[in-house]
Amino acid sequence: MCQSENIMGQFDNIDIKFLPGVGPRRVELLKKELGIENFDDLIHFYPYKYIDRSRFYLIREIDSDQTFVQIKGHFISIESEGQGRTARLKGIFTDGRDTIDVVWFSGLNYVRDNVKIGIEYVLFGKPAIYNYSYNFSHPELELFTKYQSHAHGGLEPYYNTTGKMKTSHLTSKVMKSIMEGAVKIVREYKITERLPAEILERYHMLNLTNSIINIHFPANIDSVNRARERLKFEELLYLQLMLQRQCLQRESQSQGFIMRSVGNYFNTFYFRHLPFALTGAQKRVVREIFEDMRSGRQMNRLLQGDVGSGKTLVALLCCLIAADNGYQSCIMAPTEVLANQHLESLLGMTSGLGINIRLLTGSTTKKQREIIHRELQDGTLHILVGTHALIEDNVVFRNLGLAIIDEQHRFGVAQRAKLWTKNTLPPHVLVMTATPIPRTLAMTVYGDLRVSVIDEMPPGRKPVQTFHRYIEQRGQIYSFAQKQIEAGRQVYFVFPLIDENEKLDLASLEAGYEEISNVFYQFKVCMVHGRMASAQKDANMALFASGQAQIMVATTVIEVGVNVPNASVMVIENAERFGLSQLHQLRGRVGRGADQSFCILLTGYKLSKDTKKRMDIMVQTNDGFQIADADLQLRGPGDMEGTQQSGIPFELKIANLATDGAIIERARNEAQKILADDPELTAPQNRIYADNLKKMKQQIHDWSEIS
Ligand code: ADP
Ligand code: MG
Repeated sequence: MCQSENIMGQFDNIDIKFLPGVGPRRVELLKKELGIENFDDLIHFYPYKYIDRSRFYLIREIDSDQTFVQIKGHFISIESEGQGRTARLKGIFTDGRDTIDVVWFSGLNYVRDNVKIGIEYVLFGKPAIYNYSYNFSHPELELFTKYQSHAHGGLEPYYNTTGKMKTSHLTSKVMKSIMEGAVKIVREYKITERLPAEILERYHMLNLTNSIINIHFPANIDSVNRARERLKFEELLYLQLMLQRQCLQRESQSQGFIMRSVGNYFNTFYFRHLPFALTGAQKRVVREIFEDMRSGRQMNRLLQGDVGSGKTLVALLCCLIAADNGYQSCIMAPTEVLANQHLESLLGMTSGLGINIRLLTGSTTKKQREIIHRELQDGTLHILVGTHALIEDNVVFRNLGLAIIDEQHRFGVAQRAKLWTKNTLPPHVLVMTATPIPRTLAMTVYGDLRVSVIDEMPPGRKPVQTFHRYIEQRGQIYSFAQKQIEAGRQVYFVFPLIDENEKLDLASLEAGYEEISNVFYQFKVCMVHGRMASAQKDANMALFASGQAQIMVATTVIEVGVNVPNASVMVIENAERFGLSQLHQLRGRVGRGADQSFCILLTGYKLSKDTKKRMDIMVQTNDGFQIADADLQLRGPGDMEGTQQSGIPFELKIANLATDGAIIERARNEAQKILADDPELTAPQNRIYADNLKKMKQQIHDWSEIS
């Protein structure tokens, strides 16, 4: 086959307009409504479900789990009920043992004229519950004699259709008959395989032709599953090849500063100032990061570590390596409160080390700014900590070598990109996040970002105990909190303020503050929310951090990073309004000291199934990864914080990032192996990948990048 034919699709000369049942009008509909433009698109438009028409059900077998069933039997009676607008027909259908009602609300004359009593029919439909018993409305009916005259058995495919398609009579049933024509062609001409024979053999997978036949017209569930598995694997393998190649290419192109050695700052700190031994995980990730920093390639790494796992210390160690090699660093945090905390903990750890660290935020005074600008330029400032203020144009470094971004999901891609331009070469970039990226997503979406994971907590932490309580039990919660405060601990009450402009939310926060202040009149209660002036916010935060206030009433502004080890109780009001990862983040504010800590999720009695599940998961586990996985399954990948901005390069037709973890892993390992041996995919056995990737890239217009 010559090259040009290869780039052309195999079936490009088939005009789907000429397939049986299509025609010029439906061609337009398929294109507009489903994005199906050619034969290839068509055969890769898979059914969303199958219905077992291989057997007849008994009426007594019907239960609420069934979608569709077929029953063989006859009508005992068909009678009119109601009048005018409520006129309907009610039939009683029997399978010889039991009876079930069938109702029609429209087309009554047609039913009266055509549906016969006492004659054998095959009834097909979805049972519904009405007045405590099952019935069918408008089921499909086929004379049994006719039913016998055509082939059955196997599963019947159902295709998604849109409202516009239905009004033009392009129903799932019609789609099915169009597919019959298309699959006939597939059977006859075979589809050019997209996976090497070696892989098909090794994994005992169906070839592409049989997969397409089976996904549309399977003989049984087993053949659907085999077809699905193969199609998912193919899709994910190409996704992995694409992402991993992109990653390799970027790394080979993007030069980075070489920070060859650890020196005085690092060593002095490590051997004389370190307040505690590093955990094994902290040591490992510092090593991984250092490998990048000395490699000559620009680092683009994600540091993932659950709340309280000690990311700040890792960040500091990296900054010290940069300083040892003559480079400046910056640490960017999402809020002023957080930036302040970073500064304080860094200053605390490095006093006497000769490392110059300063803070730049929106509220830094002009005089302070002048000092910072001067020291940045003459190189005497080693580490600049701050908020967005860091990326302003007038912040000019002498030699920025490392940019650390804390809590990455708060920053957009564009903001990060601005950091790139602050030196001749882009600095090494370390993005720290406490939102664990679910394993499956880390393997796909973040396929071109190196990931380091701190999967171990500092020793001596007691896992937070979590309880789910109803608002009616509020009294108990208050007395529990009171006991904790009397034992010397501090308590958070968090209210949802999802939209900072939402007046209702603010009102409920303020009402809550009032009530709590009254109940706990003998203690000091302070409040923090996002709409406060930042000086006020900081002052209130400081009251709590220093222990002068025993209770903090707050919104999620305290979600990120705030560190008050003496706080041991986190009460989350209206917990049903928070997502799983947010609940987990909030819970991470306690359990930071040596004392046993508690998290109490307060909700109303009426909860949706999903909310109940969220509460259960929180009560069951403290493991951020498990929570992230559960979150992904409950919400789906499109909705995950921080994933939209990275996006995957093409739409997945069949694989599911939330649930296909095992296949994703297999595909990733396979892709790694292929590219390790043959990064350019020039070997003869890899030509198949190179050709298909080339085709795919031509089809992708919106090639999005992570950074
Ligand atoms: P996060 O990963 O959430 O940013 P922090 O860096 O704020 O966590 O660390 C949480 C707490 O754990 C801090 O009080 C820090 O001093 C402490 N910590 C960090 N590393 C260790 C360690 N190896 N051993 C003991 N405590 C540690
Ligand atoms: Mg932190």
